[in-house]
Amino acid sequence: MRMFQVCVCGQPLKLNEKPTPEPEGSEVLLKVLAAGVCHSDLHIWDGYYELGAGKRLRLEDRGLKLPLTMGHENVGEVVAVGPKARGVKVGDKRLVYPWIGCGTCAVCKRGEDQLCPSPRFLGVYRDGGYATHLMVPHAKYLLPYSAAMQPAQVAPLACSGLTAYGALKKLGPLIKREPVVVIGAGGLGLMCIAILKLMKGKGAIVVDIDPVKRKAAMDAGALAAIDGKAPDALAQLKEAAGGGVWGAIDFVGSEATARLGVDSLVKGGTLIMVGLFGGEITLPLPFIPMRAMRLQGSYTGSLKELSELVKLIGDRSLPLVPTKTQPLEGAQAVIDDLKAGKVVGRVVLTPA
Ligand code: NAD
Ligand code: ZN
Repeated sequence: MRMFQVCVCGQPLKLNEKPTPEPEGSEVLLKVLAAGVCHSDLHIWDGYYELGAGKRLRLEDRGLKLPLTMGHENVGEVVAVGPKARGVKVGDKRLVYPWIGCGTCAVCKRGEDQLCPSPRFLGVYRDGGYATHLMVPHAKYLLPYSAAMQPAQVAPLACSGLTAYGALKKLGPLIKREPVVVIGAGGLGLMCIAILKLMKGKGAIVVDIDPVKRKAAMDAGALAAIDGKAPDALAQLKEAAGGGVWGAIDFVGSEATARLGVDSLVKGGTLIMVGLFGGEITLPLPFIPMRAMRLQGSYTGSLKELSELVKLIGDRSLPLVPTKTQPLEGAQAVIDDLKAGKVVGRVVLTPA
């Protein structure tokens, strides 16, 4: 098998080869049909998260082992099954749930693998889909999807789709009555606009600093798109939301966006924090109770939520976000484009 790997953080990915593994026990081997390139891969490739005030969280201190094959948004075709694997057969095409936990702790047992303290996430702690082949530990992580959809449209559901859906669910039923503020109209933010529509939400008010992304957001059906760099961005945002914001999702997670999100909330409002660009903010503590604000982090979603999302999409054949494909060999160029802010929607590698 061939795979593009991070060998040294920040250095170009390397094309490596190894003998294609045989599945053992319950394992299932897939040929990778589509592997989405997520902004989180940029953080993994950098090797750290920015904590603010010059501090960094190094991923190698958190269990990341190199060389690593990234890629957590994958669709593949089953090419071999282990002797104990049940529920799939050779030739089946499946969406892969990558947020796999240890499987034995209380968190995994309540079905929240994505929050497991000993994660085995594919493309983060285990090899992922920037490769010709992908090994999945168990068939329960493989979801069927509508034949009307192309693998490249389906793959981003495993992270950007699931993360947007998980964040929207945390806002609760108010999304049907109030507009949701979506900060950052990248792969995740555009996905959020589309999924909000499927959930019969009132609509999205989008904030982005890039006019190209703001146009993409309006094309996707946003109610308004505000320039986050405008000196009066906060006033524009409050006005668009009818006085103040009940529910916002920050898909950037920088100092500027978290500040804007917090400052925009009405009393009783909620800010869901998703993006990992990094930094820190200070917040006077009395404001939290006095403004009855809720700040909640959201990290991807559960296997159950991914299957709910696949059901919600049903037989729709249109891509949820603008999607371009690239051969596996283009992995580094896609990473470079994403870093330069040149990607609208998602680019998906098509190794097979
Ligand atoms: P992306 O690169 O596709 O999009 C980022 C968008 O943010 C771009 O449109 C950019 O113009 C915009 N932006 C940047 N700075 C901004 C600012 N100050 N104000 C407004 N907009 C700004 O990235 P993506 O794939 O959508 O991922 C976004 C973030 O979410 C990344 O940090 C990624 O690691 C993180 N992420 C988190 C989770 C989770 O579960 N919490 C899951 C996936 C990705
Ligand atoms: Zn991701």
